[in-house]
Amino acid sequence: MWSGKYTAVDPSLLLNNIQDNLPHYANYRQQDAQEFMNHFLNLIHDEFSMKTTLITELFYGQLQSTVKCLGCRQTEITKEPFSFLPLSISNYNQKSVLYVKVDGEQRLVSIKVNSSIMFVNDLIDCFLKQHEPKLTRDRIRAVQLVNNVVKDLYDGWQSLRSIREEELAIVEYPEKSVHQKHIWCNFIDHSTNKVFRPPTLLICPNQNCTYLHLSDQIDQLLGHLCSTTNAPASAFHLYWIYRNEMRRTLKVEANTDEDLPSISSIQIAMATEWVDIYKKYYNTNHSTDKSMLASLLTDYFREDYLDGDYHCLKCSKSTVAQHKSYLCLPLPHVFIIQLKRFMYDVNSNEKIDTYISFPLYGLDLNEYTVTDNDNKPENSSSTKYDLIAVSNHTGSLLSGHYTTYAKNTKDENWYLFDDRYVRKLDSDKDIVTKNAYILVYVQKTG
Ligand SMILES: [Zn+2]
Repeated sequence: MWSGKYTAVDPSLLLNNIQDNLPHYANYRQQDAQEFMNHFLNLIHDEFSMKTTLITELFYGQLQSTVKCLGCRQTEITKEPFSFLPLSISNYNQKSVLYVKVDGEQRLVSIKVNSSIMFVNDLIDCFLKQHEPKLTRDRIRAVQLVNNVVKDLYDGWQSLRSIREEELAIVEYPEKSVHQKHIWCNFIDHSTNKVFRPPTLLICPNQNCTYLHLSDQIDQLLGHLCSTTNAPASAFHLYWIYRNEMRRTLKVEANTDEDLPSISSIQIAMATEWVDIYKKYYNTNHSTDKSMLASLLTDYFREDYLDGDYHCLKCSKSTVAQHKSYLCLPLPHVFIIQLKRFMYDVNSNEKIDTYISFPLYGLDLNEYTVTDNDNKPENSSSTKYDLIAVSNHTGSLLSGHYTTYAKNTKDENWYLFDDRYVRKLDSDKDIVTKNAYILVYVQKTG
């Protein structure tokens, strides 16, 4: 099918076969995608009647667990096979939000929050304390940012539950007096007129605004664009917008005291070749920002203590022990991660909708892998992985729907699989969502 020789495959026979062998799936009840995948892989493995099969070679790795008794310092090492890594997200309490500053700087910030925060103002308070302790709450606004356009200003008492985290951004407001107002400065590609980055805010007088009132602020923004791209002054054109619709060239050299009546915003247009460099700079910068998935992996492999839970044979009693897990070499060719969104306990059953960012390319497992001297990775690429598929779950614990994003490695395109509908995606920018449940990574070769 991937070769392009066939357009579609009818999976009815496969389904019948699965239902014959795993009667559990014979009805049309809600099932868990991760459980099914596990059963399905085991079913194929069992049919080979061999110890090592294609399934174990592709999907299985080994986890090493080291437990050191703090009483007698005895270390116990155990190894067990695994075919997927279940990552807990219930204690995950960081939000990753884009922060846009007055001087043009933009960066993703991680905001540590506790589970009790409910409103936009709570989040802003956490942000100020952790990232901008010198600013006050009136200097910061949470906005809905979609494709670099501010669609909405969030109210401080708006519930965070009603906000899509991937659309949330924080914008710095410049300090102003009662005689001044804020206006947006938008950044557009000169040939397409499309915005290429989030806007910033400027201040200008309520009345009789001239270029002189804006020049220092605009120079600062041009300085930011130049320093990231090395673009020359000729790459820029300035416009001012009045009554929210009419656009005029902003005259910089001559008549700088010319009045700009009813000014509503400013546009900085940059030539396309420099826009491309700017976007590349920020994309690479953002993607090297540690993903939330990497933080979850760090949590999973973090050293912890088994306090009284460990029975040491040498001490012949319950003791405190140090515990740490590692991945063993060779790593599996296919690395499957389950984001544990479904919580079942005595008090409540719930689905966790937290947005977890994860990389499409270059997930590196090196720091979680055992590296003693006789067992080093042959080269660094053997610990690096690219995403090849995501299983998404929408809906609740009781009633939900699965879809899959999968990449065709022949044509390099991503496809959406939604029951009997299959659609090619225009780009890979919508792959990472809060619905992601199972992530399938494939080891990079060469
Ligand atoms: Zn001991």
